[in-house]
Amino acid sequence: MNAAPLIIVGAGHAGGRAALTLREQGYDGELLLIGDEAHAPYERPPLSKGVLQGTAELGGYSLSGAAELARLGIEHVAGQGVQHLDVGTRQVQLNDGRRLLYSGLLLATGGSARRLPGMATGWTNVRYLRTHDEALALRASLRGGVRLVVVGGGFIGLEVAASARALGCAVTLLEAGPRLAGRVLPAEVSMALLTLHREQGVDVRLNARIEAFEGAREVTCVRLDDGSRIPCDSVVVGIGMQPNVGLAQAAGLAIGQGIRVDACLRASAPDVFVAGDVCEFRLHPEGPYQRQETWRNAEAQGRHAALNLLGAGLPFQQVPGFWSDQYDHGLQTVGQLGDGPASARRALAGGFLLFYLDNQQRLQGACGWGVGNSVAKDIKLCERLITAGQPLAASQLADPGVALKTLLRN
Ligand SMILES: Cc1cc2nc3c(=O)[nH]c(=O)nc-3n(C[C@H](O)[C@H](O)[C@H](O)COP(=O)(O)OP(=O)(O)OC[C@H]3O[C@@H](n4cnc5c(N)ncnc54)[C@H](O)[C@@H]3O)c2cc1C
Repeated sequence: MNAAPLIIVGAGHAGGRAALTLREQGYDGELLLIGDEAHAPYERPPLSKGVLQGTAELGGYSLSGAAELARLGIEHVAGQGVQHLDVGTRQVQLNDGRRLLYSGLLLATGGSARRLPGMATGWTNVRYLRTHDEALALRASLRGGVRLVVVGGGFIGLEVAASARALGCAVTLLEAGPRLAGRVLPAEVSMALLTLHREQGVDVRLNARIEAFEGAREVTCVRLDDGSRIPCDSVVVGIGMQPNVGLAQAAGLAIGQGIRVDACLRASAPDVFVAGDVCEFRLHPEGPYQRQETWRNAEAQGRHAALNLLGAGLPFQQVPGFWSDQYDHGLQTVGQLGDGPASARRALAGGFLLFYLDNQQRLQGACGWGVGNSVAKDIKLCERLITAGQPLAASQLADPGVALKTLLRN
């Protein structure tokens, strides 16, 4: 009798990468990639950048087209949600009622855009951005002269604001907190973002609290609790995402801020693995549980979970990292940025690098801000310095005359 197939739930970045890795690794059994979106797996970073600006097409950021999936014998069940998981009988049930047995399961269900709390739904010009289809709908609403209100000063809100300015929209950005991307970025970077967006003509309002949307079916004005009113044609809400844990939770799997896994990305049921934005994991046995909502994590965990589905039993290890592109500037982070001030700051032409050392003077994390891709090389070197784990002098990190490469060699 043939073994039951391997099943991947969620045909996004992590799920798609896992499916391709399984075939690269020589797995030749039945393989199902089940996703509720209509498209073959794709990468999301272009959605808030090139897609909105009209410079990126789906074919360019797909992990693999439908023909390639078919050639590899990956059965992509598109446009179908998995609505029920039974880890006892090892079955998933699709929205159309089909029940499928699995021998190994990967949950890569990602997340959905968080809805604005306390606001009535049904406004026809309030949009969210998580999927390709949502990006196309948003793009269709943006053109020169459109008055756009962006709710949320995190990465997605900021990237949408930058793209909308490139299209000639008049943009007001509302951030509830005292600074931009304040949850994840050092204060100096928040300030650099604020300066850049204001220079580019975005009306950035910090500590902004929305009191009401005004209008009939369309929002025509956003009213803030300080009494100010912002007339608008379109609203986009970018206030973070909610991990899609419902399926796993109903199946009785351990859940924290995501689906909880052990060091090998195994969930709390036999032969069930988790990868990507929905995965709550620990990088060290005593470290805190965390989720990473990044391209790099989806890529690495998708690959890693595939190896472990095949029995490799490898603990997941990775230096985390993230990037964002806005206007002609790029931001990159690697490792863990501490909560306090940076241990060292290096000035660069048009930007800077911030370094975070632990109490043994080893590099924990770094963050770079500069024109274009200018910090990419230094951030790569920082990753190698983090991995090397040798003590470093803050004075040398701060000195632009000391090439980071030489610190590595020493
Ligand atoms: C607009 C945007 C811009 C971004 N820009 C950057 C960037 O510049 N840099 C960076 O590092 N990261 C960026 N990211 C983050 C990065 O794209 C994500 O971390 C990554 O896509 C996560 O991959 P994933 O596979 O875990 O989840 P996803 O890619 O979201 O895939 C999950 C898939 O599972 C499907 N699904 C969920 N539940 C079910 C179910 N029950 N049945 C079937 N299918 C289901 C979902 O519909 C989805 O298709 C960006 C994200 C967005 C949205």
